[in-house]
Amino acid sequence: MDGSLVDHSLVQAEIRRLAGEKGAVILAHNYQRPEVQDVADIVGDSLGLSRQAAASTARMIVFCGVHFMAETAAILAPDRPVILPELRAGCPMAEMVDVEGLQALKDAHPGAVVVSYVNTTAAVKAVSDICCTSANAVQVLRSVPADREIIFTPDQNLGAWAAKRAGRSVILWPGFCPTHEWIRVSDVEAARAAHPEAKVVVHPECRAEVSDIADAVESTSGMIRFCREDDAEEYLIGTELGMLYRLSRDCPGKRFYPITEVSVCYNMKMTTLEKVVNALRTEGPVVTVDAETRAKALQAVQRMV
Ligand code: SF4
Repeated sequence: MDGSLVDHSLVQAEIRRLAGEKGAVILAHNYQRPEVQDVADIVGDSLGLSRQAAASTARMIVFCGVHFMAETAAILAPDRPVILPELRAGCPMAEMVDVEGLQALKDAHPGAVVVSYVNTTAAVKAVSDICCTSANAVQVLRSVPADREIIFTPDQNLGAWAAKRAGRSVILWPGFCPTHEWIRVSDVEAARAAHPEAKVVVHPECRAEVSDIADAVESTSGMIRFCREDDAEEYLIGTELGMLYRLSRDCPGKRFYPITEVSVCYNMKMTTLEKVVNALRTEGPVVTVDAETRAKALQAVQRMV
């Protein structure tokens, strides 16, 4: 049971049985439904799951996340099928940047290093120099030689936050994550009034004015580390709501509240246990990246992991 009063144990047992029979590893992002997180072999952020996909020796990878994550796994593990249980689970932010637009920006800034958030299509990765996640964006920007311009795609909020921390100026692509963009300063103020003892921890995909008034700005893996090590008992969390389940599991005895209940990524919630069962039974749908795109994207992705 995951606290939702629905008993998922039978279908979860069937998933574990099928995963064993098929030699599958099940990876789940921190924003997945609680019952999907519970049945996964590994739950993590984009960077952690990419590393797991690269290191895994499983016969197949079932990726409970969104399309670009499965593509990234397919780039790193081309010898095994990568299955996305719900093929329609996309990322609105990843769809905000396209190859033609990025190429035009590159042409306007010849010599610029293109740093792309992992939340991009394989085709955009293929015309990028380095990929990053929210967990390592600051380090990646710092690694770019000081005399080079930097183009950062697609998340302007993460790009601006990481640039400030890295002490670099970057050319920002005007993309954003709707799930984080919905969190407003007024939501933080209202949540603080309701929970005056709680610390505010937000994701760097949030608007700059929200990050500015937070006690901590952390990637999802950083949030877990921060809340474990910090001595407060209550936290107001500014990211997708699935993260609250992960935090409650990893930090027993502490209390977590959403800054606002609207921070839901409907694409992340498309993956259900039934779809995972179906994916294992049918060994599909498989996400593929063509060889030419993969070859071009691989270097940028390898620099990230
Ligand atoms: S939470 Fe935002 S960035 Fe993550 S998959 Fe959903 S839309 Fe994309």
